[in-house]
Amino acid sequence: MTVPATDNNLDNFIGGRWIPSQSGATFTDENPALRGSSLGSFQSSTADDVACAIDAAADAFRSWRQTSIAHRQQLVAAFLNLLKESREEIARIVTLENGKTMRESRAEVDSALIEGGYHLQHAAAFFDDGSRRTSIGNLTMWVKLEPVGVVGIISPWNFPMNVMCRKTLPALLTGNTVVFKPATFTPWSGIYMARLFEKAGLPPGVFNCVTGLGSAIGNVMVDSPRIRAISFTGSTSVGKTIQARAAANLTRTQLELGGKNALIVMDDADVGLALDAAITAGFSNAGQWCTSTSRVLLHRNIAATFLASLIARADAMVVGDGLLESTEMGPVAGQRQYEDVSRAIRQATSEGAQLAAGGDTSTLPTDGYFLRPTVLTNVTPQMGAFREEIFGPVLAVCEFDSLDDALELANDSMYGLSSAIYTTDAATARVYIDSIEAGLAHVNVHTGYKEPSLPFGGIKQSGAGLPENSETGLEFFVDRKAVYERLP
Ligand code: NAP
Ligand code: MG
Repeated sequence: MTVPATDNNLDNFIGGRWIPSQSGATFTDENPALRGSSLGSFQSSTADDVACAIDAAADAFRSWRQTSIAHRQQLVAAFLNLLKESREEIARIVTLENGKTMRESRAEVDSALIEGGYHLQHAAAFFDDGSRRTSIGNLTMWVKLEPVGVVGIISPWNFPMNVMCRKTLPALLTGNTVVFKPATFTPWSGIYMARLFEKAGLPPGVFNCVTGLGSAIGNVMVDSPRIRAISFTGSTSVGKTIQARAAANLTRTQLELGGKNALIVMDDADVGLALDAAITAGFSNAGQWCTSTSRVLLHRNIAATFLASLIARADAMVVGDGLLESTEMGPVAGQRQYEDVSRAIRQATSEGAQLAAGGDTSTLPTDGYFLRPTVLTNVTPQMGAFREEIFGPVLAVCEFDSLDDALELANDSMYGLSSAIYTTDAATARVYIDSIEAGLAHVNVHTGYKEPSLPFGGIKQSGAGLPENSETGLEFFVDRKAVYERLP
């Protein structure tokens, strides 16, 4: 099946022009609900294409950096208006190339609008240096914020338009120019965003989009001394490679990486709410969510009751094509994901975990990469299912006897992205907030919840550099110049 592209121009966007890769080669974008399908042919770009994009961004930077914050706000506002008008169309593209349900894709667009609106509203105050001015006699001193220059943005396929907006809009508002590389699973969303920036009237070269493999062009972006900062969201292993390579030029990095997020359910919890949290944060986006719940830690007193309901609800979920409004969980994003997640489930059972829900794919359509919501019980901290990020609809369940045990289990991970506890006791909540090793701590709120006014980023091996969103989302993209001015 070929679904025609709505704007049927799938070239790279460089210097305000749509141009094919110098390689002459393309790759196809598969709809994961339909194996072997093609949504269109995208450019397999090379180092030369990236060099052109950097040239264009460097040229554009000379004048873009001089523009007023008000002017940049106007253009970003125009982009956000177009995004709002295109909500249904972009949601459909996200569902087609990523597989998530239309409801989830619409929520992704809404999240991008909320975060974009936040940055738009706060950018002017961020640049206001009034409060940072001091003087000694006739010496005036202040901190001048300046854009860093050309920045590289590398995004994953699980939130193909929201993650790029969360990085790109602060970069543009602070006066930087951008070279953007979307994930190979989801190039269309990236190209569509470029089209919206073009329609919004962004000057040529301020935003450039180059598609192609991370191993072929992501590396080139990171290695280029002309790219002053790299904002990356993706796996911890690629994040480590990027940080090591970026060190060669002391290129600044913002790395949002993997997680193994724990949901703790105490025996005084509202079990109904905790169940909703496990289902929502475990299986939304087919579990391909950096802040998804992947470990469920249950107090032994409520474990049996909780598990019975969890398994019944997982078994009842409707899995299918995300375009159908009746679908509750779409396919995973592609063949590689399907194989990785299936392998992790097989490994878990071979290590002694019990498949309490999922595993049986006989009732699922065979034409896409569909998996059932999966619940693994009898999981121990030594097992891969406890330790490794399984980027799919899989919950690993353990039991505990006390809050101390629960926290020890939750913190027994190289990751530290998100977490949640369900309890009705304020003192328990306080101990959890103080002790949990994670960038996000939720009390009676699921692990995936976030607001743009708070920083979004992980600790330990879940992230490095300044977090996205909040003031740090803008801060990442500026240099601070200390000015000492004495005028006659
Ligand atoms: P990935 O394999 O690390 O890829 C992410 C991006 O990096 C893609 O655009 C990829 O290009 C590119 N890339 C691959 N190798 C590269 C290299 N050597 N140099 C530069 N770029 C390179 O991750 P993914 O599978 O797309 O996404 C899933 C991961 O992202 C999970 O671990 C998830 O937890 C994490 N994630 C984290 C957050 C967060 O905010 N913390 C949010 C969402 C996802 P190709 O597509 O061409 O390989
Ligand atoms: Mg795809």
